[in-house]
Amino acid sequence: MRQVTVLGSCGAFPEPGRACSGFAVDWDGFRLVLDLGYATLPRLLAHWPDGAVDAVVITHEHPDHCIDLHGLFRMRLYGDPGGPELPLYCPPGVLDRLGGLEPDVDLHAVFDVRPLPGNYRLGPFELTGLSLPHYVPNAGIRLEADGVALAYSGDTGPTPLLAELGRDADLFIVEATDRDGETGRPTRNLLTSAEAGQWAARAGARRLMLTHFWPGNDRDASVAAARLAFGGDVLAAEEDLQVTVGTRAVPSG
Ligand SMILES: [Zn+2]
Repeated sequence: MRQVTVLGSCGAFPEPGRACSGFAVDWDGFRLVLDLGYATLPRLLAHWPDGAVDAVVITHEHPDHCIDLHGLFRMRLYGDPGGPELPLYCPPGVLDRLGGLEPDVDLHAVFDVRPLPGNYRLGPFELTGLSLPHYVPNAGIRLEADGVALAYSGDTGPTPLLAELGRDADLFIVEATDRDGETGRPTRNLLTSAEAGQWAARAGARRLMLTHFWPGNDRDASVAAARLAFGGDVLAAEEDLQVTVGTRAVPSG
């Protein structure tokens, strides 16, 4: 089984019944989590009881992407003391945030930390973490295995690196915050859904999943805006949505 399960689809703060950014990736039994924002941990536990994951990747230190990592930390610390360390890939600021919540506990008792950006072998994957523009250091994530690529932007402003991150990806998960006035800001740190479609097209991705919707936004309108530029399938992230991956080979050379 090779699939992505959406744990949360909201940016900034969760809507009723929803959660902020989080994705559970199952690749032939290897369990990887991408981001753990507000309210994602209970959904993760419903999907994978006991929080049995092989690795966690966090794109950046904002709480809508990492705050429930704290809950997972406590599960491991108190529920499985002395258990194996959990590989955690993240920019250093994520640890600073977590350390602020647990100033008297050594985070390394639970986590085996690998800094992002960077390139790693992670279970079945080649992981590439690219630095993308945001208010704080943000690592866009690309996972490749068996000629298949899965990519996730985290939060980002427009950048040609998005075309590199999502190059020929079977599934490119891109934030589509669509915050009011976004394109008029002097410094860009987030995308619109129209821009997400444009960058997915430039990347040559097969499918685009929009996520990180600003609470209250019309998601159907976001999908329609992305489709103006992107000719492949456009999906809207939805809590508990499961998407099979692995249907397109990355061209060699
Ligand atoms: Zn965010």
